[in-house]
Amino acid sequence: MKEHQPLKILYLAAEVVPFAKTGGLADVAGSLPKAIHALGHDIRVAMPRYGRIDPEKFGLKQVLPPFPVPMDKQMEEAAIMEGCLAPGIPVYFVENGKYYDRDGIYMYPDDAERFILFCRSSLEMLKRLDWCPDIIHCNDWHTAIIPNWLKTVYKNDRFFAHTASLYTIHNLAYQGIFGYRVLEVAGIAAYGFMYHPEMADLSEVVDFMARGIFFADVINTVSEKYAQEILTPEFGEKLDPLLRDRRDRLFGVLNGIDNEVMNPATDKYIAQQFDADHLDQRVANKLALQREANLREDASIPLIGIISRLTDQKGFDILGDVIDHLLNLGLQFVLLGTGDPHYHEMLSRVAQAFPDQAAVFLTFNAELAQKIYAGSDMFLMPSRFEPCGLGQMIAMRYGSVPIVRATGGLADTVTDFDPRTGEGNGFSFSAYDRWALFAAIVRALENYKYRDTWRKLQARGMGADFSWAASAHKYVDIYYRALAARGKPVKLEDYGVAKK
Ligand code: ADP
Repeated sequence: MKEHQPLKILYLAAEVVPFAKTGGLADVAGSLPKAIHALGHDIRVAMPRYGRIDPEKFGLKQVLPPFPVPMDKQMEEAAIMEGCLAPGIPVYFVENGKYYDRDGIYMYPDDAERFILFCRSSLEMLKRLDWCPDIIHCNDWHTAIIPNWLKTVYKNDRFFAHTASLYTIHNLAYQGIFGYRVLEVAGIAAYGFMYHPEMADLSEVVDFMARGIFFADVINTVSEKYAQEILTPEFGEKLDPLLRDRRDRLFGVLNGIDNEVMNPATDKYIAQQFDADHLDQRVANKLALQREANLREDASIPLIGIISRLTDQKGFDILGDVIDHLLNLGLQFVLLGTGDPHYHEMLSRVAQAFPDQAAVFLTFNAELAQKIYAGSDMFLMPSRFEPCGLGQMIAMRYGSVPIVRATGGLADTVTDFDPRTGEGNGFSFSAYDRWALFAAIVRALENYKYRDTWRKLQARGMGADFSWAASAHKYVDIYYRALAARGKPVKLEDYGVAKK
C-alpha cells in the first residue's frame, strides 16, 4: 500500500464538535477528520450517543439494531445510529440508554464501564457493517483499551488481521485509573496487570492511558514540545519511563483549528464580522462585550479575555496571586469557564471586588466564547502545562493577542514579541511564577499603547496558518508508520515513509 492509496480509518473520541464538547478534544475530533478526508481517505468517526445529543436535530438514523456486546461475563446490548460530520464522513453513535442517557459526558462512577462498552461496541460494529479499517485512531484514555484488545482478545481475529492502531494523547494528566474489576469487565483479566520495573504502581491498578501507550502501534501527542516534555518526570505524570521506552514510536503533531468554523468574517455569534483588512470594525465587538459583561464601555481600556476549564493545569493559582494587582492597573477581565469549586469562589470574589472591571461567567457557553475571542484585546493562558491549547490559536485568528506561559503547544505557537526587532506574535513567559506572569501582562499593556505596533501584532496572528493542512499530512504519514509497525511483511519504504 503506497502513500497515495486511500486508507480506511476509524476515528474514536469521547467528544466531537458539534455533537458534544467539554474541551479541545471535541474541537480536534470535529475538524481533523475533515482534513484527512480532504486528502482522499475514508475516515469515519465513532462516539457514544449521549442523552443530550438529539437524534432529530442531527438527523441520526439507526443503521444497526441492538446487538450483543461482550461485557464482563455477560452480554450488554448496543445499537448504532449514523449521522454525518460533513459530506462523506459518517459518524457512528453507540447507543445504550443505561450507560449514556445522562445529563453529562463524564465524571460518573461507572465511566470505565461506559467507555469499555463504547469501544467494544465500536469494534463489533465494524464486523456487522463489514467495514474493516486499516487504522483505528484512538484518542485519550476513553479509547485506550482498543490497542490492548487488538493485541490480546482480537489477536487472532482475522477481521482485524491487518488493522493497525494509533493512540493520540491529548492530555497525559487524565489517565483513567481504575481497580482490578475493570480487567474483568474488559475481558482481559487473564492477562493480568501491566508490569514495568520503574513504575511499581502500574501493577496495582488499571491505567487505561498506560495501556494505550504500551499496546498501540504508534503513539502521538498534540504538539512537538509536549512530545518532548512528557519524556521527563516533570511532565510525564508518572508514565515517563514507559514513554521513554516507546520514544521511537512517539510523535508530536500540532493540532489545527477549523478555519471555516472559526472565522471572524462569517461568525454569526459576534456583533460585528470583520477580517484582517478591516480591523477597525473589530471595536464594535469589544464594546458589545463590555456591555454584555456589565463593564465600563470604553474602547481604550485594555480588555483581557480568558476561556478555560478552571483547573490547576490552567494556571489559576498564579493568576489568583496577582489578579488584584493587575486590576489595580486599570485593565478589564472577562472570564468564561467552569471547573474546580475553589476557583469558582476565587473568581466570584474578584468579580464582586471589581464590578466595573472584572466579569466572570462560570458556565459553558460556546456563543459567549466567540464573543470573547472577537472582543478581547488580549487572551490569557498562563498554563502550568499545555499539551497543545486551541484557545491561543482561535484568539489569534480573531485578532486577540495571546499572553501565554511558554509550555507545550503554547510554546510551539506563540513567540514572544520583541519591540526591537518587531518579531513575535504575542507575549510569553517561562518560569511558572506569579511575577513572571505579571511582568508579561505589563509588557503587553505597554505595547498596547502603541496603536501601530498592536495592529501589526493582531494582523500577524490573523494572518498565521493554524489550519489542519500541514498536520493532516503528518497524521497520514503516521498512519502509514502504524501500518508498518503492525508487523506486516513489508518494508518501511513501501509505505512511502522514511526510517526515523
Ligand atoms: P482543553 O482541551 O485543555 O480544555 P484547549 O485550549 O485545547 O483546552 O481547548 C479548549 C476549547 O474549549 C476551546 O475551543 C475553548 O474555546 C473551549 N472552552 C473552554 N471552556 C469553555 C467554556 N466555559 N465555554 C465555552 N467554550 C469553552
